[in-house]
Amino acid sequence: MSDGHTGNPSTAARAAALRGKLEALPAGADSGASGPIRLVRAPGRVNLIGEHTDYNQGLVLPAAIDREVWIAFWPWDRSEVELTSVEFGETRSFSLAGLSPETRGARSWIDYVAATAWAMRDAGLGVRGFRGVMDSTVPIGSGLSSSAAIEMASSCALAVPGAPRPDAGAMAAIAQRGENRYVGVNCGIMDQFASAAGRAGHALLIDCRINQFKTALMPAGLSLVVCETGSSRRLEASAYNTRRSECELGVKLIAEREPGVRSLRDVNDAMLERNRDRLPEVVARRCEHVVREDGRVMDTVAALRDGDLDALGRLFAASHASLRDLYEVSSAELDAMVDIAVAVPGVVASRMTGAGFGGCTVNLVEHGAEEALRDAVLAQYRNQTGLEPRVYIVAAVDGAGEVKLDA
Ligand code: ADP
Ligand code: MG
Repeated sequence: MSDGHTGNPSTAARAAALRGKLEALPAGADSGASGPIRLVRAPGRVNLIGEHTDYNQGLVLPAAIDREVWIAFWPWDRSEVELTSVEFGETRSFSLAGLSPETRGARSWIDYVAATAWAMRDAGLGVRGFRGVMDSTVPIGSGLSSSAAIEMASSCALAVPGAPRPDAGAMAAIAQRGENRYVGVNCGIMDQFASAAGRAGHALLIDCRINQFKTALMPAGLSLVVCETGSSRRLEASAYNTRRSECELGVKLIAEREPGVRSLRDVNDAMLERNRDRLPEVVARRCEHVVREDGRVMDTVAALRDGDLDALGRLFAASHASLRDLYEVSSAELDAMVDIAVAVPGVVASRMTGAGFGGCTVNLVEHGAEEALRDAVLAQYRNQTGLEPRVYIVAAVDGAGEVKLDA
């Protein structure tokens, strides 16, 4: 069974399959798991625009998408989490007692769950153990945030029922801290925030300075299509950290002359120009991207509201060019994917999305033109790059939460 539009299994079919897998687990001597099964889900995300702005206290415009992590579980009284990943065919467990980044064991996918438990506890939230099974339709390592989806689904499974839950921004900040400190990945807050706060049919305008968001309705008549380049994000981690340091250096140098500047969010075009001579040339280009990208996010929100398709196309193109030329995080594969897309009639806007060096492009496409885009990508991309592309037609969905199961 599938819902036809996205190729995803229907909610009922997926819930039934996951429940069957949980019930089929070997019970163990005394698993201690009892009571009704519960089910939580959390979406991946695609960012429409606002790239490398989150860690600069800027603006981002992601949508949570119907590529999701699901966890079916029994709560239990043990201070332990045992989770099976269907994709990896592996069961991993950890104790909730004494979790700390210093004592984390060998790296494993379960770290994302343990990190969330550690960060929730560190923030003063109660956590509870469970025995569960996780499956996912978020492509792994493609830049659609499978890791944040695991964290946000875990945060729902770990939460003590009935306890007050922080709002989406606060919960995202807790999960981000877990990924930063426990897993050791220096990510910004966008991924967790989008997965936590998503709204069906909407993108989210997130202000990463104050951790608050507004929803932006996706125009009727436009589909969201993600094209995966299949290229490695090998360079990403080191380049990402370098970009972050370059931005920090820019802030430091500008702030020496401009009191009150704490982040690139506080810097406007005029301020950047009058301080350009103080900045190393590379740092000036990085800062220019971030400062202008924040403006493009606001312009995109207006263009979505007005249904101004020409403006959307220009804004996505300008963002892509800036990421390619000023921020230098695009790749030949991402550039090729965008070039193929924009030549297809009905493709309104196309750009690289996520941190870069590989991963995906995000495309706004008129209804009816989705298959033409898919055909063009399948026909041309492999010839140009030798890599296998994937095309996902996605829908904006609600953020993380519990799925009600029939008893
Ligand atoms: P992204 O978040 O862009 O998908 P990351 O490198 O941040 O890429 O996160 C990918 C990691 O998340 C994987 O290496 C794995 O540890 C974990 N992960 C993602 N999906 C699953 C899954 N279905 N089962 C187990 N672990 C997963
Ligand atoms: Mg990730």
